[in-house]
Amino acid sequence: MFEDDSDDYNMSNTESQIENAPLIDSLKYKTGSSVANTVTVALGFMIAILTVLFIAVIVFTVIFLLKPRISSMVLLISIDGFRSDYLEQFKDYDLKNLNAFIENGTSVEFLLPVYPSMTYPNHMSIATGLYAENHGILNNRMYDPVFNATYYYNTPEEFNSRWYDGEPIWVTAERQRVISAIHAWAGSHVSIKGILPTYRWPYSTRPDKENVDWLLSLFEGEVPKARLYTLYFEDVDNYGHTYGPDSEEVGKALKEVDDMIGYLMDTLAKRNFLQYLDIIILSDHGMASVSEDKVIYLDDFIPDLLDIAYILDRGNETAYGTSVSITPKNPKDIQPLYEELKNIEEEFDVYLKKDIPEHFHIKNHRRCPEILVLARPGWLLSLKAFNVDLDMRGAHGWDATVDPLMRGVLFANGPSFKKGYKSGSISNVEIYNLVCHILKINPSPNNGTFANVQHLLQQNVTVSK
Ligand SMILES: [Zn+2]
Repeated sequence: MFEDDSDDYNMSNTESQIENAPLIDSLKYKTGSSVANTVTVALGFMIAILTVLFIAVIVFTVIFLLKPRISSMVLLISIDGFRSDYLEQFKDYDLKNLNAFIENGTSVEFLLPVYPSMTYPNHMSIATGLYAENHGILNNRMYDPVFNATYYYNTPEEFNSRWYDGEPIWVTAERQRVISAIHAWAGSHVSIKGILPTYRWPYSTRPDKENVDWLLSLFEGEVPKARLYTLYFEDVDNYGHTYGPDSEEVGKALKEVDDMIGYLMDTLAKRNFLQYLDIIILSDHGMASVSEDKVIYLDDFIPDLLDIAYILDRGNETAYGTSVSITPKNPKDIQPLYEELKNIEEEFDVYLKKDIPEHFHIKNHRRCPEILVLARPGWLLSLKAFNVDLDMRGAHGWDATVDPLMRGVLFANGPSFKKGYKSGSISNVEIYNLVCHILKINPSPNNGTFANVQHLLQQNVTVSK
């Protein structure tokens, strides 16, 4: 029984072993399969993750490569006749947009115009970085002895490229494949070196908003159409001439410009372009009060003046000026006429061409007159023979190095400029290099020095050639 039991037991045990063997094998097999499965699943998972990552890298790379790139851009805004102290003088006119622009950007004590402090010579100096004797636009009106012709705006001569000796910034840009869009800048409608701005919006007396909307139309879509832009506002100058620089009309004109600056900035901000755009707001000259009791009529002293000399400044628009350009019909009369004028020198200065102050930078050009009569600040010159009444209460043109009322402004705001930075004054021939630097284009030879304006820029901006 015992044996039986034992046998039973043995048998049972053996049977049990036999019966359990497949189970153990099965268990053994199942254990090996599970590890293999786990490794396979893990490998599969890793491959899937790597594949997803790889695809993601490819997709993001393609998106990045296809995404339009926006390079640095510059907008020059000229507010004609914006005198350096107008913001203080007209602070009650709520010029909030200009003040915010200045607070968050860079400003200079004043922008020094070149001589004469007139619109055309200064817009050309800002655009070229050259003094008048180097860019050739010596005044709004000038005579050329070789051409035997007189330049004056709104005449066919203004559109003749032969008068323009300098290279404006838009020509420098276009030559280096940087597209420009220019509104009403002096010379921008003339083919200079065979080049015109790609986009042009000629001067017209249309409302300012139409000009701003033209500019904004170039900022539609993902990438703006140009990298160099200009915009021009004329009413601050117009009202300064008509009503005088202390008039409320000038304050209202400034307020209207301020509204336009606000509209422009808000729209560009909504379209996310301000991070790429440096905006420079500047003026060509200032404005001073004039009156009938401060006019010198040269033919009161020299009655036959018109008989012996060509007087350039005649006609309704230039019957009264800060200077008179005199070229005697007979060269032998130059010295005697000079001495005659010198004898009556009062509230004006008389210069022979060779003695004109060097810092005027006009005498080394053939368009400089033989004799220059220059009224002292606040005084005007004319001839009774012109027979024109004085119809303005503001004027400009005097030497801005001695007359603070002739000085302009420069405010700058954008990624390249320091924030909340106030600088001393700079000359307007420095602006050309500044714009070339921001656009990363090579400047043509000019009278500016980049080191004089580099301090206006953020320090991480590198120095260009
Ligand atoms: Zn002007």
